[in-house]
Amino acid sequence: MITVEEARALLFDLVSPLPGETVPLSDAAGRVLSQDVEATRDQPPFAASSMDGYAVKSTEVELHAMFKVIGESAAGKRFQGSVGPGQAVRIFTGAPIPEGADFVVIQEDTERRGDLITISDLPGPKTNIRPAGVDFTVGTKISAPRRLRAEDVALMAAMNIAAVPVSRKPVIALISTGDELVMPGDVPGPDQIIASNTFGLKALLEEAGAHVRVLPIAQDTVSSLRTAFELGEGADLVVTIGGASVGDYDLVSDVSAGLGMEQSFYKIRMRPGKPLMAGRLGQAAMVGLPGNPVSAMVCGYLFLLPMVRQMLGVEQVLTPFQTARLTEPLDKNGPREHYMRATLDETGIRACRDQDSSLLSVLAQANALLVRPPHDPALLAGDKVQYLPI
Ligand code: AMP
Ligand code: MG
Repeated sequence: MITVEEARALLFDLVSPLPGETVPLSDAAGRVLSQDVEATRDQPPFAASSMDGYAVKSTEVELHAMFKVIGESAAGKRFQGSVGPGQAVRIFTGAPIPEGADFVVIQEDTERRGDLITISDLPGPKTNIRPAGVDFTVGTKISAPRRLRAEDVALMAAMNIAAVPVSRKPVIALISTGDELVMPGDVPGPDQIIASNTFGLKALLEEAGAHVRVLPIAQDTVSSLRTAFELGEGADLVVTIGGASVGDYDLVSDVSAGLGMEQSFYKIRMRPGKPLMAGRLGQAAMVGLPGNPVSAMVCGYLFLLPMVRQMLGVEQVLTPFQTARLTEPLDKNGPREHYMRATLDETGIRACRDQDSSLLSVLAQANALLVRPPHDPALLAGDKVQYLPI
């Protein structure tokens, strides 16, 4: 059996960064920028007022100074003339500063009578002017790779970048296996349960930027499983769930081998999720996950998410572990690395009481995986441990 780290290295060998494509700006959120982009304009494109008030000459600003209002500069419609001595232009936020002016007296510091204004409160040194290009200038870069957040989309919009180069979404085919499974919303027979981790994984992988195809559930027969693999053709990564152990109905290994899968490894020295297999299946990578709901999800976090990030070309494919202090003691760990469902709050971290790998209710309450190295000794409350936020 190999370690989690060794498994990851082998999994990374199975996938590589995907080519780019161009998407409209409105579809760019959550995608990974694949090439640097540059601003095609300055922002603001002109010196602009940051307040509602009056544009004047700064040398004339003093208490009780009086100015004649000679026009107006609004956002989108500038004042065409120039501001001379003793003159002011009514101005609004975002409007271009008129020629001749270099100061905006805010409205609240003035009194107006007809077209005359008086400075009634002495303004401070702040000019209330945003210089041209203060936000960004032509050529300002957003560097790839970068997972685009809402803020990046706003910035690119302001830069007038309407088409965005991004890496193609990895296509992942998810195959659930088992005669006992039905889809959510279907009516299960007396011995049946609902396919669950399939949808948990879909959510997890899509959130990471993949496009997930949930294939019809494969029955525990060679032909049904084979059909499912055929339906998965064209995907970058084919993921099976369940049927990966050594039971009579665990057919994934045999069927995938029959289809030419070159196995890269089988079984990882970890809990939960030991019976994980991986390899290359034609053009695609293939990962066979254990079926137990928590095992499948934990393997999703530890192995599938980094593979997705690798295909997307992001820089940091592994989420670094963090450190917290235990609020409750822990028994010693066995020979396998253990990813314990745990809850973390301001007081510290504690492992959930029941670590059975079938318990989705426990996983749903957890917000961290507490990582125990092999043979970790018993720990006391207050001891430091590592965890992965989930
Ligand atoms: P297996 O690896 O096929 O023996 O499955 C191990 C356990 O996980 C069994 O209790 C299965 O019923 C359950 N299981 C397998 N696949 C799924 C799935 N997609 N959703 C929920 N439970 C599953
Ligand atoms: Mg099964």
